[in-house]
Amino acid sequence: MLKPQDRIFTNLCGHEPILLSASRRRGIWADTAKLISQGSAALIEQVKKSGLRGRGGAGFSTGLKWSFMPKPSERPHYLIVNADESEPGTCKDRAILRYDPHRLLEGALFAAAAVQAHVVYIYIRGEFGQEARVLQEALVEAYSAGLLGRNAAGSGWACDVYIHRGAGAYICGEETALLESLEGKKGQPRNKPPFPAQAGLYGCPTTINNVETLACVPEILRRGPNWFASFGRPNNTGTKLFCISGHVNKPCTVEEEMGIPLKELIEKHAGGVRGGWDNLLAVIPGGASVPLLPASLCTDARMDFDSLSELGSALGSAGVIVMDKSTDIIEAIARLSHFYMHESCGQCTPCREGTGWIWHVMTRLQKGEAEIHEIDELWDITKAIEGHTICSFGDAASWPVQGLIRHFRPVLEARLKKSGAS
Ligand code: SF4
Repeated sequence: MLKPQDRIFTNLCGHEPILLSASRRRGIWADTAKLISQGSAALIEQVKKSGLRGRGGAGFSTGLKWSFMPKPSERPHYLIVNADESEPGTCKDRAILRYDPHRLLEGALFAAAAVQAHVVYIYIRGEFGQEARVLQEALVEAYSAGLLGRNAAGSGWACDVYIHRGAGAYICGEETALLESLEGKKGQPRNKPPFPAQAGLYGCPTTINNVETLACVPEILRRGPNWFASFGRPNNTGTKLFCISGHVNKPCTVEEEMGIPLKELIEKHAGGVRGGWDNLLAVIPGGASVPLLPASLCTDARMDFDSLSELGSALGSAGVIVMDKSTDIIEAIARLSHFYMHESCGQCTPCREGTGWIWHVMTRLQKGEAEIHEIDELWDITKAIEGHTICSFGDAASWPVQGLIRHFRPVLEARLKKSGAS
């Protein structure tokens, strides 16, 4: 279990005041200029060495991503903070925005200096009204104190930060859809390549990082990359925020060491599964778009990128959705299918048409109106979508259904047989 002194997010629940003076007491904005004076290459190297991987879902190395930015030229560089947290079951970035906004602002300044950006846009989910207000207040405070602007924190680096509120589309959390939306266009993902580091916002080199990712950076630089890398295991380092919801006694968002056993996470922090561990049916470990784990795999599962991938699931956004034996698992996954059908941007055919087909078949399965062979047809539909779309949304829509068929096929068949299907 993570020791209190090793926690990065010390105001996760908002027990302490939020704004500048209290943030300074938590160590934020200390030695900022000195750390920036190391220069871009040193900042990137330290973040690489820490092993920090993006906390938004994809898990790509943050330092490596920063290193993809080209050398400064006449084209401006941009840093975008992806605060469009919309993944069902995930509410970790919201806690940072709401209770620890200066940690994010300082992390964004470090990242801006590393990728040589003088302009930062924070793209915040439209529904986050309170969070946007808190963030705006923190921004005003930071400018008044000289922590942002022409000579940010006395570092000599000019850095302006702007908050942009989204309009509530899930797909705008996809980084290229976010760029389109920020440019004032319809939020639809772009074909890649080119990647944002080559041609991002307004065709200029752009780095896009998640809120939690950037909020980890100040502590990594202050305490050193080895401190961060001492948690977890190689390729899966650091501390991590987990959001635990569903059929647990105390739903919560908590910071823990990467790789903590799933059972320990649920029992120590969320008061255990409702009715006890033996009453567990399944867990979705990384937000709605990753395959579920049946109870038989949950006992030994560890919460990190590689462990969950070995179990056929993913860490994703670390939104842990717990379902006990009272759950109608077919209905639960059908509900997610409806969500993906609704949120598809409609740009590519497999996703636009396929998510509707998935939901249609899932509804028939849920009601016991389908034929047995439709289970295989549903599997085929998800395979025709997965990997055949412009963005990974198609995969996200397919994986929950694949997880259901892989682990709960007898439950599906039993429902259909009960209603007389052949
Ligand atoms: Fe849009 Fe879906 Fe295609 Fe992504 S996969 S671009 S969300 S239609």
